[in-house]
Amino acid sequence: MSEPVVLNTIAELRRHLTQWRARRQTVALVPTMGALHDGHISLGRIAQQRADHVVYTIFVNPTQFAPTEDLSAYPRTFEADRAKIAALGADAIFAPTPDVMYPAAFATTISLTGPAIADLEDRFRPTHFAGVATIVAKLLIQAMPDLAVFGEKDFQQLAVIRQLTQDLDLPITIAGGPTLREADGLAMSSRNVYLSTEERAIAPLLQRVLSEAAAAITAGEDAQGALTYGRDRIVQSGFTLDYLEWRDALTLGAPSRDKASRLLVAARIGKTRLIDNVGVAGGEKV
Ligand code: AMP
Repeated sequence: MSEPVVLNTIAELRRHLTQWRARRQTVALVPTMGALHDGHISLGRIAQQRADHVVYTIFVNPTQFAPTEDLSAYPRTFEADRAKIAALGADAIFAPTPDVMYPAAFATTISLTGPAIADLEDRFRPTHFAGVATIVAKLLIQAMPDLAVFGEKDFQQLAVIRQLTQDLDLPITIAGGPTLREADGLAMSSRNVYLSTEERAIAPLLQRVLSEAAAAITAGEDAQGALTYGRDRIVQSGFTLDYLEWRDALTLGAPSRDKASRLLVAARIGKTRLIDNVGVAGGEKV
């Protein structure tokens, strides 16, 4: 097990990457906010299969949190994260401080349309994707990797990042990794640690509702009926439902059965907000 080098400044990051590039070796970036679980590590495995060097970034990005959200409570577990990245055999961790990423005079934000205004996450977190896009653009420009890997778990985020990379002409391949789940189906998330024992027992219902609704739509049943039934079950189980929607997998607009599509959910239980999504069979895979 080789220890990953920990880089805290943009200059250190660039120095490292320059060495690798001089040897014509490829680099994959795995951006995270830390509090790593197996889902994050699975993205690193994808990265290792496709590039010579893997760099994890760990940065809890303040601009993607609304003032009412959990920025100060967000779990920070750097030593455990470092051990997991070392066990994977990744090469480096870029862990800048907030003042490295946002110096005092910082004044730029990326403004988005398209998949960022799909009336999904953006309806409930109106400033979130501007913060995500700004930090991801900075990380991609700082590192200029050949590949960057993001999870399908944050499906709208993945669509926003694909769009951003294309629109800003960044010569970087964006890869999506499948959602890793606990044995009972709950999507792994750094926020699952907030769940009480009772809430944790209820939480896997979201994935069951998604897969049952996806099966109903695939079988040709009335989609609106399947969504209404799913929404009712989520609410009756004790969640506050933000949305359960069926969308085109590429545009996040209106879906159709002959194109790749996705069911997406966000719901709150107690203090915790959970999101998840599954593919609906039919059409091309995205
Ligand atoms: P986060 O640290 O939660 O911002 O997530 C960092 C990256 O890990 C994002 O690309 C997420 O989509 C991805 N991710 C989060 N949870 C999972 C999961 N359960 N399976 C796969 N990827 C995930």
